[in-house]
Amino acid sequence: MKQEIPYKIYLEEQEMPKQWYNVRADMTKKPAPILNPETLKPVTVQELSHIFCEELARQELDDTTAYFDIPEEIRNFYRMYRPSPLVRAYCLEEKLNTPAHIYYKFEGNNTSGSHKLNSAIAQAYYAKKQGLKGVTTETGAGQWGTALSMACAYLELDCQVYMVKCSYEQKPFRREVMRTYGAHVTPSPSMDTEVGRRINAQFPGTSGSLGCAISEAVESAVSQDGYRYVLGSVLSQVLLHQSVIGLETKTALDKYGIKADIIIGCAGGGSNLGGLISPFVGQMLKGEADYQIIAVEPASCPSLTRGVYAYDYCDTGKVCPLSKMYTLGSSFIPAASHAGGLRYHGMSSTVSELYDQGFLTARNVEQTEVFKAAQMFAKVEGILPAPESSHAIKVAIDEAMKCKETGEVKNIVFGLTGTGYFDMVAYQRFNDGQMSDYIPTDEELKKSFDALPKTDL
Ligand SMILES: *Cc1c(COP(=O)(O)O)cnc(C)c1O
Repeated sequence: MKQEIPYKIYLEEQEMPKQWYNVRADMTKKPAPILNPETLKPVTVQELSHIFCEELARQELDDTTAYFDIPEEIRNFYRMYRPSPLVRAYCLEEKLNTPAHIYYKFEGNNTSGSHKLNSAIAQAYYAKKQGLKGVTTETGAGQWGTALSMACAYLELDCQVYMVKCSYEQKPFRREVMRTYGAHVTPSPSMDTEVGRRINAQFPGTSGSLGCAISEAVESAVSQDGYRYVLGSVLSQVLLHQSVIGLETKTALDKYGIKADIIIGCAGGGSNLGGLISPFVGQMLKGEADYQIIAVEPASCPSLTRGVYAYDYCDTGKVCPLSKMYTLGSSFIPAASHAGGLRYHGMSSTVSELYDQGFLTARNVEQTEVFKAAQMFAKVEGILPAPESSHAIKVAIDEAMKCKETGEVKNIVFGLTGTGYFDMVAYQRFNDGQMSDYIPTDEELKKSFDALPKTDL
């Protein structure tokens, strides 16, 4: 095996980014502003500061500042698990017998097991700096709640997590990791909040949803002194923090003179994808380079590939600002899927706008195919991937196989967002041949599109 490029491209500690990159600053046509749900007018920093910490509210609304310094305290925390390696998937290439060169940026090398820690520590840091007592949040599959629990423990902040009830029951070990880090975990919908009581009365015995847990967490934050709400995906501030993934990837590629041809990421709310592609899209916006970018989503929750580009609520309870995004409608409840982190009805406004402008393309894939790709990857590359991440693996393999047909030597880079140790029920179903794919019908989607809010914008 030729070995000019190492298996793992590690960066030196001092090569870790000192600033996050805000791709919105370089976009000529910016993402549409987020709206106050009551007035339907663009939300102000002041209004947003009731829900989020002030600094995060500022980051959320800032679409002109290209670079934000990463505070030293956050960089110190990053040092525990960053820079993360960019791995050349030599074994996968050999297995596929493809001329393509495949690289993956591995974000699963921390206890929470995903990229979500990159933003969790940033959000916890600004909450602490503002002198808050704690933060509230929701978690679906549990990765975000785990990441936030770790970050809050490190900074000695209180952490209250509303965990979607079915996940609370099905993923007891994730729940216990959070509790070990000191978080308070409540199954949602609960009887602790008004919105929780209302949803429980309306849908007795419901196993909950992400949109509903968000509403509970927001209500809980605004009704307690010294608390703010934090969210692990979708928001522009989260994309900003996750740009650390793309910046490191670009530095690693540049170090070896590698030019990526195809960049692939899985897309739930769009934060890892947005973070990974930010610096590359930045180059495209400035006319400096060109890349083929592919977002991969589940066929059961296809916001980009089958959604509409419209203003929508980010949560079921309609308490969060409205965002213009590719959405399936906030009333759409995706079928149970094993990639819980990709079960969100909407998409980051920045990723949505870039998609609308043609900077990226999107594909949706069925979960049995995704798990086949995951298993192949685990066998040859060793890492047991998260089901979410495996969506990107699937498309990376597809693209590598196309290269095999054409003989092209393309550089394929994908984001491996996390590990799947807490997803063994999913793997069990796959191994037992009991996994099925649910694809929503056009009629189902139309029903939730019809319920979209009407705005003048
Ligand atoms: C949450 C999660 C995702 C999806 O979230 P994005 O905001 O779209 O990045 C992907 N992979 C893993 C491992 C996750 O935990």
